[in-house]
Amino acid sequence: PNTKQNASSLKEIKNVKLKGYVGFERIADQYVSKMVRDGISFNILCIGETGIGKSTLIDTLFNTNLNTTSMDHCSDKVSLVSNTFELKEKNINLKLTVIETSGYGDQINKANSHEEILKYINEQYENYVQEELGLKRQIKQINDKRVHLCLYFICPTGHSLKAIDLNTMKALDSKVNIVPIIAKADTICKNELIDFKKRIMDEIFKNEVNIYQFPINENEPSVNNQNLITNSLYPLAVIGSSQMVKVGNKVSKGRQYEWGTVSIENEMHCDFVKLRESLLSTNLFDLIELTHIKHYQMYRANRLREIGFFDDLEADTDQGDFRTIKDVYIAKKSELDEVIQRNEIQIKEEFVKKVKAKEQEIKEIEKELNGKFNQWKSEQNEWRDRIEFKRRELDDQIREFNERKFSLDKLKLSTLSSNKYS
Ligand code: GDP
Repeated sequence: PNTKQNASSLKEIKNVKLKGYVGFERIADQYVSKMVRDGISFNILCIGETGIGKSTLIDTLFNTNLNTTSMDHCSDKVSLVSNTFELKEKNINLKLTVIETSGYGDQINKANSHEEILKYINEQYENYVQEELGLKRQIKQINDKRVHLCLYFICPTGHSLKAIDLNTMKALDSKVNIVPIIAKADTICKNELIDFKKRIMDEIFKNEVNIYQFPINENEPSVNNQNLITNSLYPLAVIGSSQMVKVGNKVSKGRQYEWGTVSIENEMHCDFVKLRESLLSTNLFDLIELTHIKHYQMYRANRLREIGFFDDLEADTDQGDFRTIKDVYIAKKSELDEVIQRNEIQIKEEFVKKVKAKEQEIKEIEKELNGKFNQWKSEQNEWRDRIEFKRRELDDQIREFNERKFSLDKLKLSTLSSNKYS
């Protein structure tokens, strides 16, 4: 019904000319002042092996030294380390959160390396949903920790992607805006880099990994051009450094080697400038917006469906799908009541079963004990009879002995007296 209504109200919209100044033309200025007042939260997730250059690149991107803690290669599992910084450029405040992987690619079995990362991303969405659904919420103050950009650092092997790269990117591509970059690009020579990039992109397409596409909008030709170029440079080859080097008269960030100097700002040397401009100057807002309208909405919709909400279009009234919050509440409550009732019956049945089993066990123990007692009693009786028999035998022997002794004594006495008188 809503779709029909929308279509008819669209037909009714008429183009009207204003006769003079009204003032809403200044809404864009209002947005800018709001942004200046509130500042922006931007959260970057850096995925890559330890030592691949994550911290250095973030420092280079933001032209600062964030002093993030360096990790070692000994972690037995992948974990995430998050740091938040307040940055200010002119009058715009940026609350930057950098989340870096620790121990990524250091395990022998790398099949589950993405799990902790996925868990972190989902947790941020879940926190946001909970804040949105909260009764005392203040959307303006929701602490936005959702990941807006995922920089995936590819090892400059010159070969192709590793299994862990494809696994992780595939697992995350519907959750975050992934920008794959070739790290430490100064370690590969130009023609090898071209082939390397091509092989990587072939693998990304073959495996249907959705990476972030810098947006093309016909109304902004200058931005369009830049985004088209940046898209064509995928995966962007970057070099990070905090050292200043001098090439000719120009001083810029770069890396100095015995055989020469690479300048990060030189677009012949790497794609760093394109990356920085495309991410920070041109598409920062798009990354934030896309996270909200695409990735977060998908998470939110799935969560709400789990709870029992349906869109008007999805809802099938004939089937009795729920519409209002009250309906959802009643349905959920009766569903839970049923579950509780079922659980109660199950618990009672299990309890009775356990009591019966215990009773049976006790009866068997009792039977066993009775058997043992009877056996012991009959053994006792047997022993007692045997002892009684022995005692009687002994009594008879004593009596016999005494009788013999008596007659012997008697004989002795009569012999003695006859000898005396003879
Ligand atoms: P993380 O563990 O991924 O954060 O790596 P780090 O940023 O701490 O960098 C590890 C080492 O690699 C440091 O010695 C950096 O100077 C060096 N490094 C960082 N970026 C580059 C790069 O683009 N090229 C080269 N050759 N070395 C780099």
